Amino acid sequence: MPAILFKSHADSAANWGNELKKHVNPYDYRVWPDAGNKADVDVAIVWKPEPGMLKQFPNLKMVASLGAGVDHIFADPELPRHVPVVRLVDPWMADAMAEYVALNVLRFHRDDPDYQRLQAQKTWKPLPFSEAEARTIAIMGIGFMGASVAAKLKPFGFKIAGWSRSPKTIDGVACYHGPNGLAAMLKQANYLVCLLPATPSTVGIVNAANLTLLPRGAILIQCGRGAQTVEADVLASLNSGQLGGAALDVFPTEPLSPDNPLWTHPKVFITPHVASQTNPRTGAIVVAENIRRVRRGEKPHDAVDPAVGY
Ligand code: NDP
Repeated sequence: MPAILFKSHADSAANWGNELKKHVNPYDYRVWPDAGNKADVDVAIVWKPEPGMLKQFPNLKMVASLGAGVDHIFADPELPRHVPVVRLVDPWMADAMAEYVALNVLRFHRDDPDYQRLQAQKTWKPLPFSEAEARTIAIMGIGFMGASVAAKLKPFGFKIAGWSRSPKTIDGVACYHGPNGLAAMLKQANYLVCLLPATPSTVGIVNAANLTLLPRGAILIQCGRGAQTVEADVLASLNSGQLGGAALDVFPTEPLSPDNPLWTHPKVFITPHVASQTNPRTGAIVVAENIRRVRRGEKPHDAVDPAVGY
């Protein structure tokens, strides 16, 4: 009987097993390192697999990521290149990401950090307001998650811009693409949301050169991947006032070190890489559909292009 192998230090193997059991038949579920006969395993569901782990399964038909990103899988230099790698495209996760971005756009838009400070001083002091219509939310990486963010924030009245690798047309979104499109978008970004995948071409993209292009006092919302952030540049931009604040969910080194100055920076909100967490209840439905497909000999949905890395 074909077997599913599960490997993650961050997700519950029991919860995933219980959810997959509802949708996959026949059901043989093994949890790494108890893989049993490795020739049985045709599907691996993984988060940060150990380098060299996946090449041990000769009959693998699919490697399914336990996250939207697949950088943690391509980090394995011995990854068997003939096996499709599939990212997790779960509408629940896109909704959750939109919640995270909406929370942070609105808390800066409505001067929440300032009102919190005033409350701590027991000071009753109305501040000048700004209009959503006069503000642009710019999304670096307007893919599955980015489009959900755009759709959920548009009704508040903000202008929305998005940047992708390929040209796009999205209703209500000013679309930019390619290296030449980035500067034009950054120049109008009052809120810069990073939702890019981690690939060689996005490493270090949140850097001084790009942050300098933003209108003074812009807000950074980084919920893509930590490797995209040049942390010293973000800190310098916050300290100079070029950045008016930041919500940071991902970091070059995770967990964030206790002595990192970002923890206590008055303009920064920090969360521990939870902007959109993997949900076994909804994720298992998506993964199970792909398991059925590869077992029928069909191509899985949402296989990534190894040449571009996402
Ligand atoms: P998608 O693949 O659907 O979207 C990625 C977007 O980035 C696409 O629009 C793509 O362009 C664009 N892009 C990629 N490379 C470049 C580039 N070099 N230049 C310009 N645009 C580029 O992925 P998702 O929306 O599902 O997820 C995006 C990322 O969000 C994940 O890879 C992960 O890093 C992050 N994430 C973070 C989470 C968290 O909790 N912090 C949770 C989930 C995801 P094109 O459309 O042309 O392909």
